[in-house]
Amino acid sequence: MNRLIRGVFVKGIYPLLYLAARGIGVKRDRLQRMLINTSNRLVRFEHKKPARRILLLLPHCLQRNECNIRVTSNVFNCARCGKCEIKNLIDLAEEFKLDLFVATGGTLARRIVVETRPEAIIAVACERDLSSGISDTYPLSILGILNERPFGPCFNTRVDISRVREALLFFTGNGTDNGGKPGP
Ligand code: SF4
Repeated sequence: MNRLIRGVFVKGIYPLLYLAARGIGVKRDRLQRMLINTSNRLVRFEHKKPARRILLLLPHCLQRNECNIRVTSNVFNCARCGKCEIKNLIDLAEEFKLDLFVATGGTLARRIVVETRPEAIIAVACERDLSSGISDTYPLSILGILNERPFGPCFNTRVDISRVREALLFFTGNGTDNGGKPGP
């Protein structure tokens, strides 16, 4: 039932709201954030059983720009120098035994989801990619975490590792709640 409510919102109400709100000049990012936050809340409400197969999907822009290691083919190629958060995310993936992938775009992300067949997804990305990912992967449970962009979009972006950890604790059944933090 709860999953159905999420579907009605993500696939029905949100697209209509989006069109109406864009028509009166509401910014796209704001609407996409509303979808991400609402979907995250609904997922938290409906997801009761611990997930065994969790996929953590990262955007390529998290990788330090000057790093030449190819992490898109295999994120474990990373030399773990610690100059970007890919290292911390690999540590988390090993601790929680997750599938971890870096996707260069929506098409690759969709292919990774089909191939890994996760029970739950934690996705880090910008508003645009997260909102389309949430819609595309329904009815899968997905928690979206917005990346931070101190240098502008798509360049040396960052993510709050504590939020990723908290989402993992939630999906593995070891979390309480997110301590009142906004999303994921
Ligand atoms: S942690 Fe270091 S080696 Fe790994 S992707 Fe980031 S910059 Fe490259």
